Amino acid sequence: MNVSNASALVWFRRDLRSEDHAALFHALKSNGRVWCAFVFDSDILESLPRQDRRVAFIHDSIVELDQKLREAALQAGVKHPERCGLIVRYGAARAVIPQLAAELGVQTVFANHDDEPAALARDAAVRGRLSDIGAALYTLKDHVIFERNEVLTGNDTPYGVFTPYKNAWLKKIEPFYVKPYPVHRYAAHLAPVPSGVDTMGEQHIPSLSQMGFEGVGALKVPPGMSGAQRLLDDFLHRIDRYDETRDFPGIKGPSYLSTHLRFGTVSIRQLVDLAWTRAQAGSSGAQTWLSELIWRDFYHQILFHHPHVVGNAYKREYDRIKWAHGAKANAHFQAWCEGRTGYPLVDAAMRQLNQTGYMHNRLRMVVASFLVKDLGIDWRKGEAYFAEKLLDFDLAANNGGWQWAASTGCDAQPWFRIFNPISQSEKFDPQGKFIRRYVPELAHLPDAAIHAPWEARPADLAASDDFVIGRDYPAPIVQHDEARAETLARYAVVKEAAEKTTPRSKTRR
Ligand code: FAD
Repeated sequence: MNVSNASALVWFRRDLRSEDHAALFHALKSNGRVWCAFVFDSDILESLPRQDRRVAFIHDSIVELDQKLREAALQAGVKHPERCGLIVRYGAARAVIPQLAAELGVQTVFANHDDEPAALARDAAVRGRLSDIGAALYTLKDHVIFERNEVLTGNDTPYGVFTPYKNAWLKKIEPFYVKPYPVHRYAAHLAPVPSGVDTMGEQHIPSLSQMGFEGVGALKVPPGMSGAQRLLDDFLHRIDRYDETRDFPGIKGPSYLSTHLRFGTVSIRQLVDLAWTRAQAGSSGAQTWLSELIWRDFYHQILFHHPHVVGNAYKREYDRIKWAHGAKANAHFQAWCEGRTGYPLVDAAMRQLNQTGYMHNRLRMVVASFLVKDLGIDWRKGEAYFAEKLLDFDLAANNGGWQWAASTGCDAQPWFRIFNPISQSEKFDPQGKFIRRYVPELAHLPDAAIHAPWEARPADLAASDDFVIGRDYPAPIVQHDEARAETLARYAVVKEAAEKTTPRSKTRR
């Protein structure tokens, strides 16, 4: 079949953009008629809370994507460009996609790789059903620079330590890998949706309430491709100082692009190209930022090669640890979730998460360490809480981050290294700027008292004599030094095994 007769469907998932898109480009290049679809997957949505910022972010982003596809068709001179937008459906994607492919009579469904275990299982089901109707699922790399087996050790095994992985990654990178896919070149192959195909009628894109979700108010992260470009433009003024500012939650240091990277409203190739070029020109900020983007690739390949990390320790011997449980542990977990542990930096961070869906990277490390190593609570509970609350929740990065903090992961924090929540606070939020923003009941305290208010000298509290710990702000729910000793005892079960594990990289986190 020649290109003009062939037809295809592009299935958008974690790649909600119309430019520099591997699947869209290849579908348009090799097919004369291409339709685009997005499925609000009931298999996923039904398990979410009814107020979920991610669903709102996706919704707003696909409204924009739909518009961008129509504009691309218009610019390419397609007849009826107004009918070249997204076909949006609600239902189980494993059934909806094959059904849509049959309705449209396409030979191929194009999609970008999603290497999460549940997504791989879903894609296998879709592939099977498509083959029953004589169609194929064709998937491509798009979400990372290097995936799966592209960066391996000299023995053809996956890397488990970041620094050698990063070195191999940097050795392999060349302009080819960051070149954008010129989607516009073949946009004339976008096809109007045939009149017999149900596009959800007048509504076209279902509203949040039609899908059973409640509104979430204004999102902190502007959605869609336009939102990503706005954040990127803003970050480019700061990128050269990223290495100096990234650890301080009270200042605007990082890019805040994680949600866009998660949902593909920005292309990783565009970001790596920018960071790499600037790093080569001597920017140490860009160099550090590039490293973070490489961590992202690193954790994706870890998940691909070691799917057991979902629900289990990467280093299996750590599954022997006996975590705290029972009423006290439950109460501690609740206090952690709600930001009332009595440790101001921990509480400010958890409140930031609850209020905005974002948490600064330094704070993710601090609160994860606090949950696991001060409260003795299973890292999987914290991981699940983050998975529910984070707007940028990404299984690979979240699991990697939690296992790093719990010392159960590849290249993790050594098990005996325990963050002190007070000194972390003094070091990374010295004037309590961030704490004051999210824990207003402490806003009036002087800098000297804000990190550990229960230890404050009366002189430090002179101006706040009606402030009572335990009434106006919680007393600490554990004593760090005691908790530290308990943790060292808890981890001793794996001490011997842990000492024998592979060397860690020297990267500072
Ligand atoms: P920037 O500092 O601007 O970094 C740029 C990008 O690099 C990020 O957007 C992200 O895509 C990537 N990145 C940065 N740090 C990491 C890292 N350590 N691992 C993998 N990728 C990284 N990141 C997520 O995207 N989703 C998660 O669910 C997630 N959960 C985490 C849980 C824990 C316990 C920890 C310690 C870290 C977690 N991270 C997660 C990594 C990191 O905290 C966030 O990527 C970062 O804070 C997002 O903010 P930013 O976009 O401003 O980052």
